[in-house]
Amino acid sequence: MTVENILAKLVSFPVLGGESNLSIIHWIKEYIESYGITTTLVPNEEGNKASLHCRIGPAIDGGMILSGHTDVVPVKGQEWTTDPFKLTDKGDGKLYGRGSCDMKGFVACCLAALPNMVKADLKKPVYFAFSYDEEIGCLAGPELAQAIKTHYNETPKYAIIGEPSLMEPIVGQKGIYILETYVNGSAGHSSRIKQEVSAIHEAMRLILWLENKMNRLIEDNRLDKRFHPPHSSIHVGQVNGGIAPNVIADKAYFYWDLRTIPMDKTDTIVNEFEAYCREREQELRQVFPDFKIKTIENHPPVIHLDTKETDDVVDLIKRISGNSKLNTVAYGAEAGQFAAEGFQAVICGPGSIAQAHRADEFIAKDELVKGMEMMNKLITELSSTHLQ
Ligand SMILES: [Zn+2]
Repeated sequence: MTVENILAKLVSFPVLGGESNLSIIHWIKEYIESYGITTTLVPNEEGNKASLHCRIGPAIDGGMILSGHTDVVPVKGQEWTTDPFKLTDKGDGKLYGRGSCDMKGFVACCLAALPNMVKADLKKPVYFAFSYDEEIGCLAGPELAQAIKTHYNETPKYAIIGEPSLMEPIVGQKGIYILETYVNGSAGHSSRIKQEVSAIHEAMRLILWLENKMNRLIEDNRLDKRFHPPHSSIHVGQVNGGIAPNVIADKAYFYWDLRTIPMDKTDTIVNEFEAYCREREQELRQVFPDFKIKTIENHPPVIHLDTKETDDVVDLIKRISGNSKLNTVAYGAEAGQFAAEGFQAVICGPGSIAQAHRADEFIAKDELVKGMEMMNKLITELSSTHLQ
């Protein structure tokens, strides 16, 4: 099968983040096994989703993990001019379809290169690592990275996460954490504002605290010039509370996200926020004993990626991607999760992130060609003995 045939097949599985991915993962499994490669599934607890990993080549330390996700974002509410789950060639050098770029294009390159990987005299192995539920918060990445680490006796050294990057190596990614904060105050007539505790007023105070915290980090020069913006961002994107202008709100909540540069730790910021919440609780319980602020996770944290320019993977990716300019991103990906297990990780894949998640998502055909070139160069690298 050509890379385009494989991509068409992958796009035909309408597996959204959060949904069962067994249809697509079983097709991938059968495809890989038809080349005599053993695969291992890493199922979720309910058994309706699974990641897959496999090794091609010898059981020797120092191999390369190729990581991709099998889920895509929804198409609902988007105005598509083609069937999103049918890969469409409009004759303009682009292949249209949901996931064509993010990131079934890369997965198709991995699978299309498999016959050559099997035939090659690999001195170091390649591993495929295909996950689910990436689009709803990189939920399966940590378990898959751990599974690879524990399943094999040998230790892989590198990981390429093939998110669309126009084949540019990405060595840094901000950490992301999404939280929900609930404020429980007391209801009453608006004239009694000093006798009751308005959940809205307190929620606003907390929101301002968060904005001030971000500004303090900037003032303290906690900046990493590799990122845009170079500081950690703290942002409140949704607020809710109250029923009428003359009624003190007893409930309010807000959703917020933290995007941290590697030098800032989400835990430290959240703990500081919690300490401030406890302070407010203590003070306001003198007015209303049941006053309470509760913060819960909306998504588990997605850890940052902070690959050093001196890491061997950087030299390797420059050689095989054909690009030497290093970049960083502010979107979530599984790269940091693989790095957390000790694999030197970079993001590098065909297609542009600008086309991801939109109506008429596409991948340029020449990007697929570049993706295949990277696979072929990787095979050459792993077949030579000089790679450490
Ligand atoms: Zn993606």
